Amino acid sequence: MKKVSKNFDDVPRGLETKKCKVLINQALTENNDHDFKKYYYAHTSVKDALKSIYNNKCAYCESDISVGSPLRVDHYRPKDKVRDCWLEEEDKELDGQKLKRTKKIVSNGYYWLGYEWSNLVYSCESCNGSKSNYFPLKDEEKRIKHPPLRNEKLDKKKCHAHLSPLAEEPRLLLNPELDNPRDHLLCFPDGEVGYYTGEGEMSVKVYDLNRDPLRVKRKECYEKVFDKLARRLERFDREEYSERTVITSLEDILMEDLLSVIQDNGPYYSFFESMILDFDLYFVERFSDPEHKRLLKLAYDSLINSIA
Ligand SMILES: [Zn+2]
Repeated sequence: MKKVSKNFDDVPRGLETKKCKVLINQALTENNDHDFKKYYYAHTSVKDALKSIYNNKCAYCESDISVGSPLRVDHYRPKDKVRDCWLEEEDKELDGQKLKRTKKIVSNGYYWLGYEWSNLVYSCESCNGSKSNYFPLKDEEKRIKHPPLRNEKLDKKKCHAHLSPLAEEPRLLLNPELDNPRDHLLCFPDGEVGYYTGEGEMSVKVYDLNRDPLRVKRKECYEKVFDKLARRLERFDREEYSERTVITSLEDILMEDLLSVIQDNGPYYSFFESMILDFDLYFVERFSDPEHKRLLKLAYDSLINSIA
């Protein structure tokens, strides 16, 4: 998951039409019986804006459509009835917890946010399906269950996700528009996503960020770079490459296979960013030969100096 910058005041025109404003008022009285009109909340103007903000990737898993599934407009806070879920101790594993999903309804949903720009994110069908109508909080007592009203009309300013009262709701699901996922999540060379915090753990489980196709794809991304580096070092061992040549060659791999993904804001950007920022951990420490370690460090230092 990669932090993005979204201007909550720059509302796409589809959400500002008269008809959409009528629908917002209708939803206030109809609650979750309201027939939410996709034409408006997933209007072309909304989709285009989200596509650009997320660089055509899923907000949660960072896949493009080639790996995930078609991307769609998702309501971060469910517009329909919210179901209960929690983490419980996993019997089979010593560490980690299992997500317990239930059908128990904990609220009628955030129906007043059905057409709210700051509640709309771009998501693949897999993440969206896994997230479903779950929106766990640290403290269920603090869930906001009613729309903010002013003169019996929706107080739009109080519907912004980054402002009070929504900002104070103790959310457990990470949102790349509001949180810095880097503070909560990390990705291992085997493609598994780990977590530092409770929010990270709950997000991994609810969005199902360790589902097989994702783990396999992320592992492939890592191994492709690792294998290329290893093959160049073998050529140095066989004396096919001089020290100068192998360093340049390693640097080229780092440039073409790591940095270019970051520069293009490609799929799994945050994993590639970690590989560059923690290069020693991801690569240098995984080679046993001290000479290989030295050459990798030299190539890395040369790359960093060239872009500094
Ligand atoms: Zn996804």
